[in-house]
Amino acid sequence: MKREYATQMDAARRGIVTPEIEAVAKKENREVSFIMDMVAQGKVAIPANVNHKSLEPNGVGSMLKTKINVNLGVSRDCKDYDIEMQKVMSAVNLGAEAIMDLSSHGNTQPFRQKLCRECPAMVGTVPVYDAVIHYQRDLATLTAKDFVDVVRLHAEDGVDFVTLHCGITRKTIEQIRKGERKMNIVSRGGSLVFAWMSMTGEENPFYEYYDEILDICREYDVTVSLGDACRPGCLADATDGVQIEELIRLGELTQRAWDKDVQVMVEGPGHVPMDQIAANMKVQQTICKGAPFYVLGPLVTDIAPGYDHITAAIGGAIAAMSGAAFLCYVTPAEHLALPNVDDVREGIIASKIAAHAADIAKDLPGARAQDDRMADARRKLDWEAQYREALDPETAKSIRDSRAPEDDHADTCSMCGKFCAVRSMNKALAGEIIDIL
Ligand code: SF4
Repeated sequence: MKREYATQMDAARRGIVTPEIEAVAKKENREVSFIMDMVAQGKVAIPANVNHKSLEPNGVGSMLKTKINVNLGVSRDCKDYDIEMQKVMSAVNLGAEAIMDLSSHGNTQPFRQKLCRECPAMVGTVPVYDAVIHYQRDLATLTAKDFVDVVRLHAEDGVDFVTLHCGITRKTIEQIRKGERKMNIVSRGGSLVFAWMSMTGEENPFYEYYDEILDICREYDVTVSLGDACRPGCLADATDGVQIEELIRLGELTQRAWDKDVQVMVEGPGHVPMDQIAANMKVQQTICKGAPFYVLGPLVTDIAPGYDHITAAIGGAIAAMSGAAFLCYVTPAEHLALPNVDDVREGIIASKIAAHAADIAKDLPGARAQDDRMADARRKLDWEAQYREALDPETAKSIRDSRAPEDDHADTCSMCGKFCAVRSMNKALAGEIIDIL
């Protein structure tokens, strides 16, 4: 049976409570009417393609819990669908709310379709990457229509959101050619669009045929994630004219999507010094009228390859506290190599810490409850309860077990042994003797 509304935004604007709006309200401990109002205004997006039947929907918005995305997908160096699918499910189990399929090798459609059949998290893609692989033709030979057709293919397959680098135009080519940036364009999709425009002499197809693309997105309820082709790739390029000018165009494109009831997220930086992050969030929220901001990092220093999950988590926590709604994970392998299973795990945990820390600072309903339970478990020296409340119980338990106290019956850990402050205080307050020697 055909549903009586086109998109979640269309439904919310007409006062229709969809199952997705209800599910999000429940997950967020919020009133249904509040979520509906936020979706109607575009301040919350619920990416939920009509064809993604296994989806457990989530809302993305600065007043909701901060969500995280994990990039995966088959590539030349990892082309086994089942192994990649295992990584997807383990990312979901670790708390990822979205998976971006950045497959870049072979026939990408079967994996994308498998993902939309089996994955309960939101699925996102970047159609411009896939165009080259899908047609198996060099970039310069592709036409604007080819790119639009790939967006349709992804929409039909059940993808919930697509990154479209619509904000870069021929004017950007001139700006970049002036050579004022250290890192030019570091967005993979953005660089492909730039290269295509340079080789063909034509305007950005995602910009030129934006209305046609919006019609496709409306038909399948695909959320547009407006890609920031010009996100800064180093601290020196942060908040420069190229970045801000693209953001202004993204603001215009946000409104054009909303005029067709198409949901929008806006992608953001990048590499940004800590003292510029809050201002970046404020500017985005003002220009894009509160559309959910989806940030990659931001990385707060350029000099920590091997540890960029940490540089990104520091920036992500500040960004989310200041208004970002959605964090793209970054792994220790960023700038260096394809992440392996351990890198993926560390990247997810770092992003979850950033997201959770921001949610506490934003005082979201129930955000601190788990921390309070952890504090109780720590005071009671109840190790099993501490593992239950830990973001990564497996790692917490394995560290304690690998360096257990010499005394098997010790209720403390081997860090302070019998000098354990918690134990001493518990005993002192209970009027007991404190046996240290
Ligand atoms: S031994 Fe030290 S680190 Fe371990 S629980 Fe007690 S106070 Fe904490």
